[in-house]
Amino acid sequence: MRVSEMFMATQREIPADAEIPSHQLMLRAGLIRKNASGIYSFMPMGFRSYKKVEKIIREEMDKAGAQELIMPALLTAETYQASGRWEKFGPEMFRLEDRSGRPFCLGPTHEEPFTEAVRDCIRSYKQLPVTLYQIQHKYRDEKRPRFGVIRAREFVMKDAYSFDCDEEGLDISYQKMYKAYRAIFDRLGLDYTIVDADSGAMGGSGSQEFMVKSPIGEDGICFCDECGYAANEEKAECMTPEQDTSAELPVEKIHTPGVKTIEELMAFMNAQPSEFVKTILYNIDGKIVAVMVRGDREINETKLGNLFDATEMNLAAFDDVERITGAAVGFAGPVGLKEKIEVIVDREVSVMKNFIVGACETDYHLKNVNIGRDFTPDRIEDVRTAVKGDKCPRCGKPLGTARGVEVGHIFKLGTKYSDALGCIYLDREGRSNPMVMGCYGIGVSRTLAAIIEQNHDDDGIKWPVVVAPYSVIVIPTKVNEEENMNLAEAIYKRLQDEGIEVMIDDRNERPGVKFKDADLIGIPMRITVGRRAGEGIVELKYRAGGAVEEVSLEEAVMAAKSLVRSAQ
Ligand code: ATP
Ligand code: MG
Repeated sequence: MRVSEMFMATQREIPADAEIPSHQLMLRAGLIRKNASGIYSFMPMGFRSYKKVEKIIREEMDKAGAQELIMPALLTAETYQASGRWEKFGPEMFRLEDRSGRPFCLGPTHEEPFTEAVRDCIRSYKQLPVTLYQIQHKYRDEKRPRFGVIRAREFVMKDAYSFDCDEEGLDISYQKMYKAYRAIFDRLGLDYTIVDADSGAMGGSGSQEFMVKSPIGEDGICFCDECGYAANEEKAECMTPEQDTSAELPVEKIHTPGVKTIEELMAFMNAQPSEFVKTILYNIDGKIVAVMVRGDREINETKLGNLFDATEMNLAAFDDVERITGAAVGFAGPVGLKEKIEVIVDREVSVMKNFIVGACETDYHLKNVNIGRDFTPDRIEDVRTAVKGDKCPRCGKPLGTARGVEVGHIFKLGTKYSDALGCIYLDREGRSNPMVMGCYGIGVSRTLAAIIEQNHDDDGIKWPVVVAPYSVIVIPTKVNEEENMNLAEAIYKRLQDEGIEVMIDDRNERPGVKFKDADLIGIPMRITVGRRAGEGIVELKYRAGGAVEEVSLEEAVMAAKSLVRSAQ
């Protein structure tokens, strides 16, 4: 490709909402263009890399025996009603109506239509197992679209679904996908971790996520170097510590005027946040509940939502809090609630003694509160997020934490969807059984961004060769000098003839400008035709690093060939 003829979508001004390197670089290098919040176009340069990610995914899925098809993105409400997900998806689902008022949605994930297709086409155990997949746009009205294509509202997912006769069959299908996923992320050169994941809204038994390690990751990962345990922090279990056996002290009501934050309260009371228990009111599908965790802990909303099989969960509205506690917001506690609501106490709090809580009275707190004597929880549950140093739920050693971007998710669904949608088969004895399912997703567009997160520097992207839009860029420094240009054209042609994806920057620009652009778009190899063009000598430089080498045309071609071969 000639840069002079190329549709370059590079952008000088980066919008303020592009907070992370991959988002900024994808915009600057013109890989993507924003159409609306969470909605992006892939521009020519970005689309080339995107297709390479897709190709690797496709190759490994096919190798694992999965069969590709394509389903509609526009789906009827009925498709999701039998499974209950028409309601369950809540506001995340994009809903619309046809001209006669019939409800539709844009598919957020496709368990239901795949289950229907298999139900209608497969009768016998002889036709099982089968794994189907598609690479397609998905639609989710994310609460907070951000980070460009990492959390978009329209994005591309590879989604696969396996159908087996029994659990043993599912284990085999799941293992095949596990292996395929490892092969995919290995080939993409990503540094990733596989973690136990929450089963969330999908239902089902086991699931694992493929996390690309990155400081910008939205997911927290808890891991144990001792036994190899690794889990999403949404899932990582917090064990109950030892019971505090201190003597129970008498409750004291403390006047705490104007104290707003935990820090202010702690300073006022000369106490540590770990001696305080915060009481937070949630509205879970219309029901208000109180959740109590230690002052220095975070409530884990995934764990909490799972307890209630929640569809919509938010902090309770101010007026609900004020009515139920009889106090201004900030003074909630378990003692003296004006209405009976369910009180859920975290495991860690359940063994504490003499803690501080809000007094359900404006400007007051209670000191030396004790469970059993002063209030009785309705439930004791694991509702906090694990933190660094917590005991590993498997071996008891301290956990470490890291951040990750979830690029893939594999999931043992069991019979949730086959039961709901009647996806059955006849076994050897002629009996009907529900098929046992698994589902497997990869965020294709998110993966591309994750690759950039792990492969960039201040100058731009450093594409791994496998996904680089072009492998080589040839830069003539003086396009108006015949000798210079002829050699550049000769190399360009040779590389094209060798089947190497190559660009030539034939613009009449200063070399500095061309080098800057080549670095920004991250082409792995740069061949510069400069002052020794007359001798047939060019300069070779790798975007990955290293010094400039002076080589002959033939040597440059050889180097390009071996670079490309190394990536196959
Ligand atoms: P997340 O927790 O990040 O919202 P999820 O658990 O909702 O992800 P799945 O339903 O398992 O995701 O979807 C499969 C894959 O699709 C994810 O592993 C991720 O790579 C990708 N994905 C999910 N949501 C988005 C999104 N909003 N934008 C881009 N990719 C996404
Ligand atoms: Mg999600």
